[in-house]
Amino acid sequence: MIKLKESVEKLQAYFVNDLPYKVKLDANEGSNYLLKDGFKIDNFKANLYPDSDSKILREKMSKYYKCKAENIMVGNGSSELINTIINAYCEKGEKVMSFIPSFSMYQTYCDLCGAEYVGVETEMDFSQNIDKLIDEAKKENPKIVIVCNPNNPTGYVTPKEDLVKLLDNVQNSLIIIDEAYADFSEISVIDLINKYENLLVMRTLSKAFGLAGLRVGAVIANEKTIKYIWKVKVPYNLNILSQYAAEQALDNIDKVKDYTNRVKKLRQSLKDSLEELNFTVYPSGGNFLFVKSPVDNLFENLMEQGVLIREFRYDEVYNRITIATEEENKILLEEIGKLIG
Ligand SMILES: *Cc1c(COP(=O)(O)O)cnc(C)c1O
Repeated sequence: MIKLKESVEKLQAYFVNDLPYKVKLDANEGSNYLLKDGFKIDNFKANLYPDSDSKILREKMSKYYKCKAENIMVGNGSSELINTIINAYCEKGEKVMSFIPSFSMYQTYCDLCGAEYVGVETEMDFSQNIDKLIDEAKKENPKIVIVCNPNNPTGYVTPKEDLVKLLDNVQNSLIIIDEAYADFSEISVIDLINKYENLLVMRTLSKAFGLAGLRVGAVIANEKTIKYIWKVKVPYNLNILSQYAAEQALDNIDKVKDYTNRVKKLRQSLKDSLEELNFTVYPSGGNFLFVKSPVDNLFENLMEQGVLIREFRYDEVYNRITIATEEENKILLEEIGKLIG
């Protein structure tokens, strides 16, 4: 076999589990409510390249994110953008810092480009001490600091004043706030992009919009920064069908608020029910709950019943459960009830 280059050769390939299921609560996907009847294709020209700048899509997004289209660059999911940005800013060996546990992909993207991932431990209750992160950043001088807010997988919400403190104190690093779940919490720092030139905010249509299959994400920053990083945008990266469908979905953003409110109510009721069953449930600002189960092997046992959740093995075993519909919550609780007996 022809050898890959050395830095790539030692990497582990990322495969996603493909298990049979009746209820899928393992990937924080939203409901299919914006394009539930599919989307209408008229005057569609597949022979032409898509709009490389995604002008209409960015215009529609700017209304929801309360910024200008010029503050937005879109990509094939926000994960593609995070990868592109880490790769664009980090020379081999430069550091990327974030709390651990957090989104495991940050480490993957660092590995891909030879950046060094530096994790700062969260507290025992998975809360995130911003002073500790600031101290570490001053010590290690990372090229990039990433805060996932709300954090995946723990659900922890970093208060806005903490993020302002980080931005005020760490001005020589790029600060990426990954707001993949911000639609389900009350906090965003998009309104600060014109104050801090080193701030990049990542958003996605994969979670609250229920459009994970379209792969549409965005990076939001001040105009100067967006123009600057446009150098690394892959031309035509967002295909014509995804742009087209996302534009139609974004014509219904009033429905997004209803949906996220519904999810927040279900999040609270599922938390209450699980606590009654002696689960430890951590406070969550996302469309998921991070829990510690009173029964062993919860993941395997539920999988056998066709209920998929995510398992995380740290010093102890934790699970992350996506908030889906009331119906699916009920099936989950019934199956857990059987296990507890
Ligand atoms: C889901 C998720 C993303 C991105 O998803 P895309 O589908 O690539 O837009 C980014 N960050 C976190 C923390 C996520 O959970």
